[in-house]
Amino acid sequence: MADPSECNIKVMCRFRPFNDSEVVRGDKCIPKFQGEDTVLVGAKPYAFDRVFGQNTTQEQVYNACARQIVKDVLEGYNGTIFAYGQTASGKTHTMEGNLHDIEIMGIIPRIVQDIFTYIYSMNENLEFHIKISYFEIYLDKIRDLLDVSKTNLSVHEDKNRVPYVKGCTERFVSSPEEVMDVIDEGKLNRHVAVTNMNEHSSRSHSIFLINVKQENVETEQKLSGKLYLVDLAGSEKVSKTGAEGAVLDEAKNINKSLSALGNVISALAEGTKSHVPYRDSKMTRILQDSLGGNCRTTIIICCSPSSYNESESKSTLLFGQRAKTIKNTVTVNLELTAEEWRKKYEREKERNKGLRALIQRLEAELARWRNGDTVPVEDQFDPKDRHSLEVPSDGPNTSLVSAPSMGSLSSILDPVPSLSGEERQNYEEMLTKLYKQLDDKDDEINQQSQLGEKLKQQLLDQEELLVSSQRDNGFSQEELVRLQVENEAAKEEVKEVLQALEELAVNYDQKLQEAEDRGKQNGLLCEELQEKEIRLKTRESEVQRLQDVQGMNRRRLVEMLSSLLKDLGEIGTTIGTNDLKPLETSGVPEEEFTLTRLYVSKLKSEVKSLVKRGKQLESQHVENTIKMEENEKELANNSLLLSQHEAKIRSMIETVQAAEQKRRQLEESNDTVQEELARLKAQENVHEISFKDMEKEQLDKLEDASAIQKALQDEMQRHRESHQQQLSQLRNEIDEKQRTIEDLRDAQQRLLLEQEQLRAEFKRLKCEEQEKSKRLQDLTVMHDRREQARQDLKGLEETVAKELQTLHNLRKLFVQDLATRVKRSAEADTDDFGGSASQKQRITFLENNLDQLTAVHKQLVRDNADLRCELPKLEKRLRATAERVKALEGALKEAKESNLRDRRRYQQDVDRIKEAVRARNIARRGSSAQIVRPIRAGHVPTNSPANLGIRGGGGPVPNQPVGIRGGGHSHPDTNRRPNQNDVGNINGDVNEKHR
Ligand code: ADP
Ligand code: MG
Repeated sequence: MADPSECNIKVMCRFRPFNDSEVVRGDKCIPKFQGEDTVLVGAKPYAFDRVFGQNTTQEQVYNACARQIVKDVLEGYNGTIFAYGQTASGKTHTMEGNLHDIEIMGIIPRIVQDIFTYIYSMNENLEFHIKISYFEIYLDKIRDLLDVSKTNLSVHEDKNRVPYVKGCTERFVSSPEEVMDVIDEGKLNRHVAVTNMNEHSSRSHSIFLINVKQENVETEQKLSGKLYLVDLAGSEKVSKTGAEGAVLDEAKNINKSLSALGNVISALAEGTKSHVPYRDSKMTRILQDSLGGNCRTTIIICCSPSSYNESESKSTLLFGQRAKTIKNTVTVNLELTAEEWRKKYEREKERNKGLRALIQRLEAELARWRNGDTVPVEDQFDPKDRHSLEVPSDGPNTSLVSAPSMGSLSSILDPVPSLSGEERQNYEEMLTKLYKQLDDKDDEINQQSQLGEKLKQQLLDQEELLVSSQRDNGFSQEELVRLQVENEAAKEEVKEVLQALEELAVNYDQKLQEAEDRGKQNGLLCEELQEKEIRLKTRESEVQRLQDVQGMNRRRLVEMLSSLLKDLGEIGTTIGTNDLKPLETSGVPEEEFTLTRLYVSKLKSEVKSLVKRGKQLESQHVENTIKMEENEKELANNSLLLSQHEAKIRSMIETVQAAEQKRRQLEESNDTVQEELARLKAQENVHEISFKDMEKEQLDKLEDASAIQKALQDEMQRHRESHQQQLSQLRNEIDEKQRTIEDLRDAQQRLLLEQEQLRAEFKRLKCEEQEKSKRLQDLTVMHDRREQARQDLKGLEETVAKELQTLHNLRKLFVQDLATRVKRSAEADTDDFGGSASQKQRITFLENNLDQLTAVHKQLVRDNADLRCELPKLEKRLRATAERVKALEGALKEAKESNLRDRRRYQQDVDRIKEAVRARNIARRGSSAQIVRPIRAGHVPTNSPANLGIRGGGGPVPNQPVGIRGGGHSHPDTNRRPNQNDVGNINGDVNEKHR
């Protein structure tokens, strides 16, 4: 069993070397060292357990300050080392130094290394479980450095009334490397979360906790030790606030923990104050056991040697002096075995018996005193007898185990011995209740501040979202405006194009009309042509017939001529035979005969020439016929071309007309020929009557025929030429029309393309509109959420107010209760002066309590006020947000409306174009119905993703408790798994104290 022993807090003083700026400034060195434990500053000596000069190495500091603590912790004691001093005095250098440089590493890495080295050298029956925590306190908020999400942890008391940080991450470690990794991780988190690390580190306290549990597997003895390694915030703030009073209220708040530490140390140093204000800050609560409790504590005060920092250094030295007087009661944290518990129980039972007897004796004496008897001195109770009455106990009363840690309670209750057991119990219960309530309030405040943080974060997020959506909205509005402008421009273009299209349509209609008219004309002309062709055929047949007749006539004529010639020959022979006779008979007949012969020869030659001319006429006639046939063929070809090429039809019609004219002329000529033929017939008849006449007429006729032939040829030539001209003209016209049609088609194509573009744009606008309405919905949802958050905040505020009210009521009740008790005690002790003195003490105690409660109440009220202060700001923001949302809604609505209007207009335009195109199609179809053959055959119309160290929570790296065996078992995995008590805080441990 371990005996509690008293020991003073050790205070070491370290002066760092001059830094560059101090050297540059040429500051004087103020400390003068006297021996190992005294330093003179301004001729005033300050004595500490140890004083380190500027040239002290890290190792020297470690050996003097920390080496022993490692041993103590591994032997089941609690330990604390903290560095105190102004900013840049070397606290961090002393505690941490360079974590990975063997020379200048500070106390923490050396302790880590030493713990394991020591464990390896220990008895092999010992099994160790080491877990570490790392957190910082900034603005009186505990932030877990191993889990950044835990930003405001609360301090609770375990069943032995030892405070601990609730919910703080605990990592089980089995090697120095692992510890260093955890420290690195924590430091990284510390850096990540803050913007100005220098300022942050000078204003925050970083606390590194090593929890060591050991079990002797043979004896089953369990020991535990906690080691706090604290790098405090810069102390200059305290002196500042001290010097400037309430000037820097904020600075006070910032370093509330440090001033609370000063107050706790002052209270403990004075030793007369009954109340130590551990509860004033979270840091002093955590270090409650370290300061005046069950802990071996070493404070390293760090100072600058420079004259520049003299006042700060002096105040630091004074702090050290004060702290040096504090006494801690240390005891081994030993967990009892069942047998030990049983023995303890027996002892306590005996002791209880003795105490009861003592009480009875005292009560009897008191009764005698009260009855007005005087008790003789030999019968009076002598406190010296007390120990003889009590059964000696090698351990303190369990409920008093934590007496030092309960601080205020025991220290206050002890000086009031006149309190009856019942009252004491009542007070204890009441105090317990109040502390519990305080803890609950702490929890609540913690929860609410976390909620507040969350809400703030949410608000910030939403503001960001709002800003981004506003930006988006701005962009989209710009885009919308741009699109509208483009749309307008496009509409203008479309209008122009439509106008052009309409014009084209009108032109097209006109041309179509013209084409139709021409087509009709063409049709008529075709009909006429057919008629004419028919007539021509009949004429041809007539001509043929006439030719046949003529041929017959000619043959007959030839026959006649030959018979005539024969006759003439006969006449000649007859005349020849009778020539001589008439000559002989008379000379006159001979002359006549000669004359006749001459006539005959003349006639012969004339007949011959006539025959020749006839033949010539015949050949010419044949030629004419061939030519006529050729013309006919050409006409047929032209008609074919007409049927194949509709555009050529008009010209063909003209050609046909021309051909018709020619034909007419031919007919006319034919008529004349026929007339001629008729005349010839008549002449033939006449010729029958008078050969001579006939011959003459024949001659005339032949002459006429040749003239006619010539005229015909000329006519034919002229016709061909005009035909050619007309053809080329018609071709030009066709080409022109073709071009106009092509242009029209291109224009139509362009219009269609534009229409499609407009349609695509319209679709895009529609999509954008949908997107915007979606965004609007999102914004509305966000707005609703914000409204919800505001409601929540209001509810929260109400509950806080209610809680405050209940606390207030409680306080009132407490005050009332106190008043009645005071009254009652006053009545009972009016004749007892000593009694009223104790009452006064009670009253002061209660007053202190009341003060504390008032302070807590004030804090709550302040918090509430803060929350209230924030509320209007939040509401304002919310309103502004709501307004923005409304404005955005309005803008969106407008945009929608204009979009709708545009759409309608566009639809109308589209409808109009469709209508126009349809009408034209109908017109075309309607007209094409009138034309037997379509204008263009085959043309298709185009319109148609368990840290056991943390209770109930998981760290970022799964961490299992790993046992380490002493005596060289350096491999943790071969070790036994810890039991349930190994996890979490040292709740299962009992701080054994023996008196
Ligand atoms: P604090 O943590 O008290 O604000 P630091 O430990 O950060 O101050 O020290 C400030 C500066 O002084 C650091 O650069 C540190 O390296 C240096 N320093 C402090 N103490 C010593 C020392 N004993 N030897 C050498 N340099 C030191
Ligand atoms: Mg520092």
